Amino acid sequence: MCVFCEIVKGNIPSYKIYEDDNVLAFLDISQATFGHTLIVTKKHYENFFDLPTEEAVNVIKAAKIVETKLKEKLNISNINLLNNNGEIAGQVVMHYHLHLIPRYNQNDITIKFNGHEIDHAQLKELCEKINK
Ligand code: AMP
Repeated sequence: MCVFCEIVKGNIPSYKIYEDDNVLAFLDISQATFGHTLIVTKKHYENFFDLPTEEAVNVIKAAKIVETKLKEKLNISNINLLNNNGEIAGQVVMHYHLHLIPRYNQNDITIKFNGHEIDHAQLKELCEKINK
């Protein structure tokens, strides 16, 4: 059973923010900040890797509508767009979804990257490895 498929079918209730033929946006049940919204594809794809390009376009089109709505209605001007792909990357629900997390101040949530010192030779090697 996929919880987001059940939400799309209407078998599990959700607080809908936006819907069209391809996607549904609803409030995350656990609000990272007030207005935390998920956009899911109506069809089941496990994550971004499985998402056909046209479906990715559908999600981004909806994200533009939802970000406008959140900014206007919640009187905010900063939002994190976040998408976890795979367990190590923090994905818990294995149905593609994009998080929109309104930001009210710099400390309301923590999204932390620990940068590693790397010299130009290593960057060049890495670049060549990826492009080979
Ligand atoms: P992720 O870690 O990117 O897979 O995030 C999954 C998100 O789904 C979490 O933020 C959960 O709070 C959210 N979630 C799980 N079940 C529900 C539900 N029934 N309605 C709304 N959001 C949900």
